[in-house]
Amino acid sequence: MKWLQGTHIGVNISKNPVVASISISGKKFFWLSHYYSHTMPLCSQCTLPSDVAGITLDDRGVCNQCRTHHAIHYHGEAKLIQILDACRDRDKTYDCMVNISGGRDSTYTLLSLVKDHHLRVLAVNYANPFTDPQAIKNIQNTIRILGVDFVQFSLKKKLHENILRNNILTWFKNPSPAMVPAICIGCKIIWPKMLKIARQKRIRCIVNGGNPFEYTSFKKELLGVADGADLKSTYFSNFTGLLIQASKNSGYLNPRFLGPTLQGYLFGNPYAIGSRLMARNITFLDFFHYVPWRENDVLARIQEELEWDFPKDLQSTWRFDCEIAHLKDYMYKMTLGMTEKDDFYAKLIREGQISRYEAIQRLEKENRIPIDRVNKLLEKVDLKHLQITREDPII
Ligand SMILES: [Zn+2]
Repeated sequence: MKWLQGTHIGVNISKNPVVASISISGKKFFWLSHYYSHTMPLCSQCTLPSDVAGITLDDRGVCNQCRTHHAIHYHGEAKLIQILDACRDRDKTYDCMVNISGGRDSTYTLLSLVKDHHLRVLAVNYANPFTDPQAIKNIQNTIRILGVDFVQFSLKKKLHENILRNNILTWFKNPSPAMVPAICIGCKIIWPKMLKIARQKRIRCIVNGGNPFEYTSFKKELLGVADGADLKSTYFSNFTGLLIQASKNSGYLNPRFLGPTLQGYLFGNPYAIGSRLMARNITFLDFFHYVPWRENDVLARIQEELEWDFPKDLQSTWRFDCEIAHLKDYMYKMTLGMTEKDDFYAKLIREGQISRYEAIQRLEKENRIPIDRVNKLLEKVDLKHLQITREDPII
């Protein structure tokens, strides 16, 4: 065929994840295949599939994460009260600050600090351009009902939109589950702003609402960080893993976004090296490391006391507050056959909060990808050509 003359064609199929690609004269086209099927062996105690992101089953069918699980240790409410009491200062306007997103855990944290612990709290929100409308309503209701002061800030010059667009495009050129978190870089560069607000308002304590079930184990594994590695070696391995990934897909090192990307690494969370250096005199507190996180209690209180709600077309109350979360689920599902919810529910099973049967039932429903929402997001960042046409055919 004449049109093929001088054209170099290469085909590549990788097993884990299953990604098939064809390159024609250096231009790469790809297909993702579904790794997961219900015939694939799952752990007999939790719901994690074998041979994905470091998950292995023993001869009893139990996964390595179940085998090495240690019950979550909570520091206890007495310790929480002791630290919060030390933050009370009548010479200042606020005792502490909470970053709220409109999601369930940060809303509950603010509620408890104000109503149970009677603290003077400043609520802060990053005006993420991808906030779900229901999350915006939740923030407004919470502020109004609790009567707390509220500060909202945004990032300059459509930085979040532009870096998201770059990282989605880059990811689709060479899909890798290890680099899915790169699409969330926009929310990793907000900490310097948060710390600046704390300094301006003379706030010495920042309370976070994340819960201990959310620390996704497989993400670290994908970057080559050993299970149980200490903080220092985790940080180093994480950085090395990211560099290796970026070297395979140079779009992540786009000079236009290199500064914010590095900033995201240095300030990605309150415990990252940059944040720690910038906020030496600020106490960071993870509320649910002291008080046990129980989903039903959290939901019951915020729904009853703060009119909190979630979009009814979604099956899950978790992480709907950012529209990017649905694309993230899609990316994980297409490359790993599982999402962060699989990991989350596996942890809840190990802690005895839900049964394995309930987890499977919930995953069947909650792991469905809301196609319209994913496509709306892609359209919003001018990536209409990447829109998806169907849900994972397995479910
Ligand atoms: Zn397991």
